[in-house]
Amino acid sequence: MIIPIRCLSCGKPVAHLWEEYLERTKNGEITKKVLDALGLERYCCRALFLGHVDLIDTVARFKKS
Ligand SMILES: [Zn+2]
Repeated sequence: MIIPIRCLSCGKPVAHLWEEYLERTKNGEITKKVLDALGLERYCCRALFLGHVDLIDTVARFKKS
């Protein structure tokens, strides 16, 4: 859906890093280098970013009423 505000495992705030991560990886930067540059060192936070699929725009089309 949307990236969680904090890492679900360690509690580090990560949501503010998502836009930059998306932009930099879309522009062809190596994912490892982007994660390192953003300060995501623990593998729980890194896994959160690597496995995340942003579905909010898709889901938002199916509103109630
Ligand atoms: Zn974490």
